[in-house]
Amino acid sequence: MTIYSGPVFDMASQQFSVIADHLSIPINERDRLLMPKRAITISCPIHRDDGTTAVFEGYRVQHHLTLGPTKGGTRFAGSVDLGEVAALAIWMSWKCALVGLPYGGAKGGIGVDPASLSKRELESLSRRYMQEMIPFVGPHTDIMAPDMGTNEQVMAWFMDTYSMYHGRTVTEIVTGKPVSAGGTLGRREATGRGVAYLARRVMSDLSINLSDATAVIQGFGNVGSIAALELSNMGVRIIAVSDHTGALYRAAGLDVPDLIKHVSAHGNLAGYSNELSYDPANILTLPCDVLVPAAIERVIDAKAADELRCRIVAEGANGPTTPEADLVLERRQKEIFLIPDILCNSGGVIVSYFEWVQDLQQLFWEEDEVMRREFQILDRAFDQMTLRAKRDRIFNRTAAMSIGVERVRAAKNMRGLFP
Ligand code: NAD
Repeated sequence: MTIYSGPVFDMASQQFSVIADHLSIPINERDRLLMPKRAITISCPIHRDDGTTAVFEGYRVQHHLTLGPTKGGTRFAGSVDLGEVAALAIWMSWKCALVGLPYGGAKGGIGVDPASLSKRELESLSRRYMQEMIPFVGPHTDIMAPDMGTNEQVMAWFMDTYSMYHGRTVTEIVTGKPVSAGGTLGRREATGRGVAYLARRVMSDLSINLSDATAVIQGFGNVGSIAALELSNMGVRIIAVSDHTGALYRAAGLDVPDLIKHVSAHGNLAGYSNELSYDPANILTLPCDVLVPAAIERVIDAKAADELRCRIVAEGANGPTTPEADLVLERRQKEIFLIPDILCNSGGVIVSYFEWVQDLQQLFWEEDEVMRREFQILDRAFDQMTLRAKRDRIFNRTAAMSIGVERVRAAKNMRGLFP
């Protein structure tokens, strides 16, 4: 038991053990690689609109400082707790190392459903969270970004709060900001665009014709909606989508731009169409070419993995597949190609890295340049993963995570143990 113990942290530990065994990492080196360097818990009091005071718990976990500052998103969701945040920080570390970014992983969040707050309350809470974090973060210490329940607006409030405290504008303290406030072109789209780019690459390898292909998307927020839009722009039929309010299914394909318009106006998919409504419990197992889980962790368990009828699982979300389901997917790897989360959704942190670099240099790139470099890094990491998987006859997740863990381990061993 550790202070992080819980279903999501236990899953990250279990995944790490599989990799550590595969890489024959000695037992006495494992805790140094796995356990987070720092964890901060804060109380964020705010005035509610009705005049009462409410206090929310916030967290930030910085996993390792070996390769540079830490980097990671901030999640606002009712489910957020220290263990979930720690697991997400650990996954960020393997992801950054896999794609070759000079960062350790971090993650943060507040246990709050943002939909339960007014805009003023959300701004107060966002500002209070950053205010409480000021002693622990910095452009060369720990850089935040959006995640579930946060967006460009929240990042702008974070940046403004940090900047007001320092008496100058410090855009490089967070990424995923609006372009009008020091953000980069292509960040908002980066994660979903990367998911669709890699899915297309695998479809091409499997000789799946884009215009005959179908996709199912779970989660219709930043990642899911952009992945759906990009795939549909490639000619893929998006036959089903879901969010926390329900699911929609149309065999002939859904109108993705229209769904996005509905979600921007109403906040979610509810009320879009009664005729197209579908049981969200069955969406993952619909027959399709590409399945994109882009919502929350642990949605594909062993039973679901057994029942999947897709050719490709493109993990937009972090940790959507349980270790038990991985065993099933490993067995089914000839039928189903897995693009594991730490590769599949890494477009977000790759373009966050570009945003940080641009902010530090005050030299901004065109969107074409951002996309070209994002795809170049995704291609390199994809090649490395598939080469390793073929060479060692291992599952894609094992290959991707092995590369990430190995790089962090090599840096730790070269630097040595201080003092
Ligand atoms: P978001 O808040 O923009 O959207 C989340 C979506 O998931 C919403 O549509 C919500 O309704 C839906 N959802 C929540 N619970 C659900 C459930 N039980 N069933 C179906 N849908 C559900 O969040 P996001 O930024 O799109 O993040 C989604 C996932 O992608 C998370 O796992 C996040 O960690 C991961 N991710 C995000 C980024 C990024 O750049 N935003 C980068 C890498 C990974």
